[in-house]
Amino acid sequence: MTDTPNFSNAKQVKCPQCGRLTLYSPQNPSRPFCSDRCKLIDLGEWASEGYKVPVEQQTYNEKDLEQLYEALNKGESGE
Ligand SMILES: [Zn+2]
Repeated sequence: MTDTPNFSNAKQVKCPQCGRLTLYSPQNPSRPFCSDRCKLIDLGEWASEGYKVPVEQQTYNEKDLEQLYEALNKGESGE
């Protein structure tokens, strides 16, 4: 690629997702990605990375819930 007719004054960066040369300017709302698609793919990968972090799920048994309801009811009537 040697012809850069209109982008001579605009900065070009490689799309972090696909590696294509893309315009880094306000004209490109997806910058530094070449397209919305690449942006979404990257964000999706980033998000799925986050979801890999194990989240300890708290499980409540019925007794816990009863106590919770009691506490809530007390709080309401206590006012
Ligand atoms: Zn891309």
